[in-house]
Amino acid sequence: MREMPLHPLHRSIRRFWNPVESRYWTYERPSVIEAICGQCEAPYLFNPDPVPTHQYDPEVGGYTVLKGEICGPIAGRGACGKCGKVATSLTWPEAAYIKIKVAEGILWSWNTEQLVVIRAHVAGDKAVLRKMLMNDWRLSRTIGRIPTFAILKRNRFKILSSIDRYLRKRTA
Ligand SMILES: [Zn+2]
Repeated sequence: MREMPLHPLHRSIRRFWNPVESRYWTYERPSVIEAICGQCEAPYLFNPDPVPTHQYDPEVGGYTVLKGEICGPIAGRGACGKCGKVATSLTWPEAAYIKIKVAEGILWSWNTEQLVVIRAHVAGDKAVLRKMLMNDWRLSRTIGRIPTFAILKRNRFKILSSIDRYLRKRTA
């Protein structure tokens, strides 16, 4: 007798289920970083070199997740549209264009795409957030990395108005 196939129901659910590991985060870098020029401080787009997120481990016989670095030097390429300076590396988060300072620390974002998700989380807009995460599961990792001070009630107004300022500048 043939073995029963894997739960067909389970499989169809899985298609919509985005697994996010809780023990390890793979810090994939985004394809576009919004940075400030080291020479004239104008914002420009920087494309980081891709970094591996998984490494083959012959002892385990599988792939281990590499805990990537977020902060520090990042290699890549970008050119400032204002002064023409070409950058082949930058230092994070110092070079972040999107930085919001509150008493507890600095909330930064790689780019506007991520900022929109951060905004929904800070605002507690669960319906909007769910919709965004359904379309891009990588963004759910973003949520796990938002510092807790960002969602404190006392910081909410300042953070949301700062975020909106960035978003307005972007569309202007
Ligand atoms: Zn510049």
